[in-house]
Amino acid sequence: MTTSVTPHAPTEAATLTEEDIAALVTRLRATFATGRTRPLAWREEQLTRLRALFTENREAIADALYSDLRKPRPEANGAEIDLPVQEIDHTLAHLAQWLAPRHLDPKALAGLPEGSTAGTQYEPLGTVLVIAPWNYPVQLSLVPVAGALAAGNTVILKPSELAPATSALMARLVPRYLDPEAVAVVEGGVPETTALLAQRFDHIFYTGNGTVGRIVMRAAAEHLTPVTLELGGKSPVFVDRDADITTVARRLADAKFRNAGQTCVAPDYVLTDPATARALEVALAEAVEGMFGPDPQASEAYGRMVNERHFDRVSALLGSGTTVFGGRTDRDDLYIAPTVLAGVRGDDPVMGEEIFGPVLPLVEVAGLDEAIAFINDRDKPLALYGFTENETTRRRLAAETSSGGLGFGLPMAHLRVPELPFGGVGESGMGSYHGPHSIAAFSHRRARLDVPLGQASPR
Ligand code: NAD
Repeated sequence: MTTSVTPHAPTEAATLTEEDIAALVTRLRATFATGRTRPLAWREEQLTRLRALFTENREAIADALYSDLRKPRPEANGAEIDLPVQEIDHTLAHLAQWLAPRHLDPKALAGLPEGSTAGTQYEPLGTVLVIAPWNYPVQLSLVPVAGALAAGNTVILKPSELAPATSALMARLVPRYLDPEAVAVVEGGVPETTALLAQRFDHIFYTGNGTVGRIVMRAAAEHLTPVTLELGGKSPVFVDRDADITTVARRLADAKFRNAGQTCVAPDYVLTDPATARALEVALAEAVEGMFGPDPQASEAYGRMVNERHFDRVSALLGSGTTVFGGRTDRDDLYIAPTVLAGVRGDDPVMGEEIFGPVLPLVEVAGLDEAIAFINDRDKPLALYGFTENETTRRRLAAETSSGGLGFGLPMAHLRVPELPFGGVGESGMGSYHGPHSIAAFSHRRARLDVPLGQASPR
């Protein structure tokens, strides 16, 4: 699809006071109350315009991402533009079907008068707030916005202040493409988010860390507002001794080191037996050299830490275990080399928090039993990955552990399948989105029963 859209008049982004924010929420509520966002045609138009925002601004989006994260252009094109466009196309193709009322089998209505019908229908919630993080600042802002609009809501987006160029770009582009009476971008950090959270929303969709997730949920509780919390965690990888190590290393390195490891579903650490760990050390070194050459700092394909705070935090984790390769840092350049640590133990500092950087610990276990026990000893992760040809191993990992998503063979790929719910469990979050799951997240599923008049009451 190559729809070209005439943009709305540009709106200047400005710093908003608490009163401005309250007035904005009131305005978006008033828009919702008119019913303007409910028709399928309006929703499809907004999605089409959002699609055009991506396709007509590829360069500007990639430039902003480079400025904020030195995000390599192929990564910007893939995860931040093509993936959201794919999500929008899938939604446009299926939205009418997802929104269609579901009817119950009349057999479920035994005891009610003849001719009774029952079913469910999605209805939009109202005005929703999307709070986004900095690591995939476009995708993680605008895919939730797409879901909120597809479900017929008005929406405020609060992008992350830690990706300022991208935040400013979205504040400029969104009002030019999307209905300005129904969608607004509020830029800013803690004060602005706090002011937003004081308002009553009909849903809050937050992506980020669990500490702020708790702040969001507490604020939402004041208004009994439902929340989706897309959080993080330490996503483990189990590598079986039967797996093809060259393929494992390539796929692992790609998932771990893109965006310099700052991906919520990146493999956090590897659990494997000692012999496989030795083979992986060699194969990972080759894979990383294949991706970034002998000096990743000089490679345009390799990103940077988002800021000094995260640079310092991740650098402090480099002392765990023994360094197989990498380990070099350059604070002025926010550079941390792709690093693999061997012989890491469960109580080492690098295992104490989500790494969210380009450091991959290898933790040795005797086998699957110990790996499962290790995983279950910790918070439920956002993703769990396995590399194995063994069906029993796959079945046991599925049955005996819990995580937001489970992927065998290709880490992170599950989030590219729009029909799969994307979300966490326990410490890694609650609720999910993508495709039809976004409609569920941003809608109320209303029960409806129609009983014909003119017949004797059953009681
Ligand atoms: P961040 O610092 O950008 O914070 C996210 C949002 O919270 C921002 O909009 C920010 O302004 C707001 N915020 C920060 N402090 C606040 C406060 N005190 N009160 C109110 N709002 C506040 O992002 P981050 O948390 O550093 O992101 C990294 C984390 O997010 C990692 O744990 C990662 O795993 C997780 N994450 C999860 C997903 C997912 O889809 N599940 C995706 C990306 C990142």
